[in-house]
Amino acid sequence: MSINNKNPYGPNPSDFLSNVNSFEIIDTTLREGEQFANAFYTLDSKVKIAKALSDFGVDYIELTSPVASPQSKIELETVCKLGLKCKVLTHIRCNINDAKVAVACGVDGVNVFIGTSQFMKRYSHGKDMSFITNAAIQVIEFVKSKGLEIRFSTEDSFRSDMVDLLNIYTTVDKIGVNRIGIADTVGGANPRQVYDLVRTIKSCVSCDIETHFHNDTGCAIANAYTALEAGSKFIDTTVLGIGERNGIVALGGFMARMVVSAPDYVKSKYKLTKLRELETLVAETVKVNIPFNNPITGFCAFTHKAGVHAKAILANPATYEIINPADFGLSRYIHFASRLTGWNAIKARVEQLNLDLADDQIKEVTKKIKSMGDVRPLNIEDVDSIIKDYHSDSKKIELAKKEQEEHREALENLAGDDKAEDEPEQKRRRVEN
Ligand SMILES: [Zn+2]
Repeated sequence: MSINNKNPYGPNPSDFLSNVNSFEIIDTTLREGEQFANAFYTLDSKVKIAKALSDFGVDYIELTSPVASPQSKIELETVCKLGLKCKVLTHIRCNINDAKVAVACGVDGVNVFIGTSQFMKRYSHGKDMSFITNAAIQVIEFVKSKGLEIRFSTEDSFRSDMVDLLNIYTTVDKIGVNRIGIADTVGGANPRQVYDLVRTIKSCVSCDIETHFHNDTGCAIANAYTALEAGSKFIDTTVLGIGERNGIVALGGFMARMVVSAPDYVKSKYKLTKLRELETLVAETVKVNIPFNNPITGFCAFTHKAGVHAKAILANPATYEIINPADFGLSRYIHFASRLTGWNAIKARVEQLNLDLADDQIKEVTKKIKSMGDVRPLNIEDVDSIIKDYHSDSKKIELAKKEQEEHREALENLAGDDKAEDEPEQKRRRVEN
């Protein structure tokens, strides 16, 4: 793809804790995604989505807490029994009763969370840090005693006091959690803050770090990438980014980011060709359309329009494409129906239509298309009919020229024959004379 083999988007060597080439995905379409305004899952839809996520290759899926409702419990138990390749987690409040119900459902691990910011302590659960610490210890020790994975996450981590964060994380690390979670619950963090916080916490704990980024300010994927650079290993995603408010890191967008930075790792680990099917399944389930500007699967993600772009794409797609659509089972499209088109794009279309026109003719028809495109929007049919009309006119002209030529040749031959016939007569006359 590239002219030389160096990947300018690969991991930065100075990020020696980087997990850009070794991250894992915890997809929470079936938990965070259920908090999306439009989401209503049935048992059947949860099973379908769980299977599709597992087929795609995510490492974990996270489901709604079984204490949320009786049906949520049935759904969790059912998904746990599917025998999926991915591990099944549930997301629970930091209390022992929730933990007991979760463990009894047959999960592979439990994701525990509790708010630690001033806002959460005052307006959400109303508990102080010593209460939070004691509750965390009790839940972690219980889940570990059952031989299951346990993650402990603070909520609203970026607005939490750094001393509180370091105290709670080092405490749970010592007890032996598998992962701690850092969550930008309100979506306000920027990549530089993410790098600093993850890096600081990483230097104080020995367990892995999971990160959860909301997208309120449009930074979710950038924050996830930066978290990996700083040493986080696990990224929470949802299909299409659905979640509370405007959601979190979108699985597809995150794959787009990572396939550019860690192509070998991503292509060998995830079934990228299943992405569109997975997104379509979730989009239909929650009754939304795939956004036009979605990375990879947006309808114009691989459409090239400007004449200079089209020319270069036809010569070498990597000139204007950082992602190869074929990796995702998709194809690129050269948009040629506009006044921005160029003759190289029209030439490619002429070839697709199986017509034969010389380059100077293609340049001429391109002029016609551009002048029509100056007057009104064009569609493919418009352009095709301009090309076809031009082609048939040019063929008619060629035919007429050919007929004229043949006619002229015939006349010349006829004149030549007369001359030839005349010659012996003249000779005879000369001899007679
Ligand atoms: Zn969230």
